[in-house]
Amino acid sequence: MSEIYNFCAGPAMLPAAVMQKAQAEFINWQETGRSVMELSHRSKEYIALAKEAEQDLRDLLSIPDNYKVLFAQGGGRGQFSAVPMNLHGRGKSADFLLTGSWSKGAQQEAEKFLSANIVSEVVTKDGLTAVPKISADMMGADSAYFHYCSNETVDGIEIDEVPDCGDLPLVADMSSNILSKPIDVSKFGVIYAGAQKNIGPSGLAVVIVRDDLLDFAMPETPTFLHYQTMDKFDSMYNTPPTYSWYLAGLVFKWLKEQGGLTAIAKINAQKAALLYGCIDDTPFYSNKVHPDFRSKMNVTFHLPSTELDAAFLTEAEEFGLKALKGHRIVGGMRASIYNAMPLEGVIALTDFMRDFARRNS
Ligand SMILES: *Cc1c(COP(=O)(O)O)cnc(C)c1O
Repeated sequence: MSEIYNFCAGPAMLPAAVMQKAQAEFINWQETGRSVMELSHRSKEYIALAKEAEQDLRDLLSIPDNYKVLFAQGGGRGQFSAVPMNLHGRGKSADFLLTGSWSKGAQQEAEKFLSANIVSEVVTKDGLTAVPKISADMMGADSAYFHYCSNETVDGIEIDEVPDCGDLPLVADMSSNILSKPIDVSKFGVIYAGAQKNIGPSGLAVVIVRDDLLDFAMPETPTFLHYQTMDKFDSMYNTPPTYSWYLAGLVFKWLKEQGGLTAIAKINAQKAALLYGCIDDTPFYSNKVHPDFRSKMNVTFHLPSTELDAAFLTEAEEFGLKALKGHRIVGGMRASIYNAMPLEGVIALTDFMRDFARRNS
């Protein structure tokens, strides 16, 4: 059997080295005679593991001391509700940039708790999708925060430049590009990310919140989503997803071994350049996102006709290239090339794409 490369958007592949380590210590973790999964979250062994994972994440992202790191349940969408509930006391409304299906999902959920205003949306520039510049004067007078999605997983749109929302807390859904490159955390009020793209298994979410924003929750906020309570209990108010937290910790260690985020960003840029290069030099394929906003994590592309889609997918599967079907609302293909995807996977994909185009043009 040839190598399998999994391009699934999420839950996504994890680094092979992480899976092998988890397998090796699956039933006997650090000579405890038990799986991590079977340890009390109150045991000193588990607490040490949890703290180490947090510290590794802090090191990777250079998270300043005035930011709390929470390991939450409920994935990315859990935070679609938690953010408006926790920042509710700051204003009657919130401001949103709509760039695709995930930012829209966040805006629609926030609408349940406050007035969720759309301050800007994607535009078409030279026939391609682009994101307008955001400036502080677009923000509402009674706004509690500004929210955007730094990488639209479905649409393949990434925003590299951090939007300027003036003094308002900047909230970012980084579910699908967190840890793919260095970021300046100090520009943000809240960063959140569902784990299943670049961190670990689904269900877990990482929330990085500036400490002056902990105390604005609406009284009805469920206790397990309440940032201040989460922080007070070191993310263990209720039993955390212990095994997912452990796996996330292994991924953080793996990233450190790769040389951290500057090093991984270099490889990510190389992978994306290779794949977009193949799309651009092969007229058979097209991508509809403006080059300034092309995602380095989720590469969307179309074939010349939808009739060819099924053959492309079947042959790709046979070649070991899995889960390339685009999201149903966008159509076409999507190759998710998160941190865990090795360069060889992208080379195999571009070889296949060139060959398929030659045979079907
Ligand atoms: C996957 C994803 C989500 C949703 O995550 P769930 O864990 O399924 O709730 C939210 N935002 C973005 C950008 C995503 O990629």
